[in-house]
Amino acid sequence: MRTSKWMFTAALLASLSAVAQQAAAPGASQSAPPAATPIATPAASSAAGPVGQPDQSAAPASAQPAATDGAQSQPTPAPPAPVAAPTTMDQVVNLFIQREHGLMKVLATRTPVVETYLQNLTADPQLGPVPSEDHYFLGRLDMGETVDRKDYLKEDKEGMQSRLLGGLHKLYKVQYEPTGFSWMVYADRTDFDREHYDFAYIRREFLGDVRCLVFDVKPKPKSGRGRFLGRVWVEDQDFNIVRLNGTYAPAPRNSYFFHMDSWRLNLIPGYWVPAFIYSEEGDFSAGVKNRLAFKAQTRIWGYDLKKGGKDDELTNIRVDSVQDNSAAAQDASPLQAERVWQQQAEDNVIERLTSAGLLAPEGDVDHILQTVVNNLEVTNNIDLPRPVRTRVLLTAPLETFSVGNTIVISRGLIDVLPDEASLAAVLSHELAHIVLGHNLGSKYAFNDRMLFSDEGTYQNLGFKHIPEEETAADTKAIDLLKNSPYAQKLDNVGLFLKALQQRTPQLNALLTTHLGNQLAENGTVNRLTALSQQGPALDVNKLDQIAALPLGGRIKINPWDDKAEMVKTAPVAITSARDKMPFEVTPFYPRLSRFGGNAPAQAPAPATAANANTGN
Ligand SMILES: [Zn+2]
Repeated sequence: MRTSKWMFTAALLASLSAVAQQAAAPGASQSAPPAATPIATPAASSAAGPVGQPDQSAAPASAQPAATDGAQSQPTPAPPAPVAAPTTMDQVVNLFIQREHGLMKVLATRTPVVETYLQNLTADPQLGPVPSEDHYFLGRLDMGETVDRKDYLKEDKEGMQSRLLGGLHKLYKVQYEPTGFSWMVYADRTDFDREHYDFAYIRREFLGDVRCLVFDVKPKPKSGRGRFLGRVWVEDQDFNIVRLNGTYAPAPRNSYFFHMDSWRLNLIPGYWVPAFIYSEEGDFSAGVKNRLAFKAQTRIWGYDLKKGGKDDELTNIRVDSVQDNSAAAQDASPLQAERVWQQQAEDNVIERLTSAGLLAPEGDVDHILQTVVNNLEVTNNIDLPRPVRTRVLLTAPLETFSVGNTIVISRGLIDVLPDEASLAAVLSHELAHIVLGHNLGSKYAFNDRMLFSDEGTYQNLGFKHIPEEETAADTKAIDLLKNSPYAQKLDNVGLFLKALQQRTPQLNALLTTHLGNQLAENGTVNRLTALSQQGPALDVNKLDQIAALPLGGRIKINPWDDKAEMVKTAPVAITSARDKMPFEVTPFYPRLSRFGGNAPAQAPAPATAANANTGN
């Protein structure tokens, strides 16, 4: 019994080693890597644009609240009617303009969750650009009249008063505008048409499994400020835009439009939904005075959050009738009552976090996490009255917490862990809380405590333990690990903790937790410190020493239904210390495919001989 039931999660291990080696180039495993040359945009590369009245289209009218709370879930939009296959590029342009407006209409009632994580960069002679500090924004994106964001987090002291678009405002110092990072969900919210833009066909290109037609898009002269300037990829079946790459120009005075690479996914029939936006600025070549350098990932999810009633009452009736038939209908003992009470609180919290768009529904990743927890349990002879469950928090900051018997671990933390032993280590701390009976959150068994707005989640829920419980959990966690299949692999955990310590001073936002205890405080890692000296010294030049991974390499979220799954990547060899990029932000390169997997026969694309330069 003692060792017969534990198992390594083969799938996770395979995936871990693959990801550990693929840090170099997220796009390198694509079958048809496009040459994605960013378009030079001299108009936007100077810090201040021409003086003048800011264009109306470049400033959202007002911060409208996202009126989602209590709203029922919306039906999935019906796919648009099929169109006749175009025969000229002119017709293709008309089609994708029309589809773009159709997408805006379909998404106008949606208020998905939007997260931006940004790392400012500084040059390291050995490692190249490395994070110097970071920023984190989490909110809801109102896809209605204007594209606007409403934050889950309290605005920091630096203030977000200015609502200029395009990201940053430079009066005395750089201020990032969260809205700016999500602006490229659409090319142009108000005037994406032939009156304002010239379109030039460039070539055909595959993005993943999807054949695309590539167009350069330029604003016509005097068409106003803040117009899209760049390139779009249009799939050649329904003629939806699937990727936008470029910037906005010209910029209003004292502000700056940064460059963006925006990706959409075919998550519902007929529509490609904005999912990822990568932003990057900075030039580290010799002689350049570096005023601004950063990398930022914006992720959008929670388009189809399930809200409200469902069949809860029916379920209860069914459960009651089953119990009534049992031989001895017994009253609950005080201990049983306590457990049922805690279960109720746990269920309330998990359901509320899921409907707020912060927790993935139960899925494949949980099976892997539960296998690791099970390995710790069976080798330590832990027998709990209720099974331990696991769930994935959809956000980037590195955190774990537990609610009753449910262990929650963030997407960002799973991403950066180098191996299964490190995953077991962070889970063991939460399992220790559960074993030691440090149950938090029974107050949430009162349902009135679940009645808050989604944006108020972080103000209304919290699962931080007192320092004494943290110390006790760490001590117990080390015991659990030493009895477990991971006992021989704790050197790797030590390495991970060292890598985390090395970057802790620069990654305050990534290490700021919102529901659980911090992994580090005051610049020092405080989790599992007994293991932090274990293992070899950190050595960036040892290419086979992978202490921590970049963000985004492990967990893939479906932005429509929030389901989490493991990323499948082919190994890519690390060739220099710069390829390791621990805890860093990298560009997105999703493998595009059509809804439902197998693409039906493709409509014939128009001949390239047709006049491509349609705008002039
Ligand atoms: Zn803890």
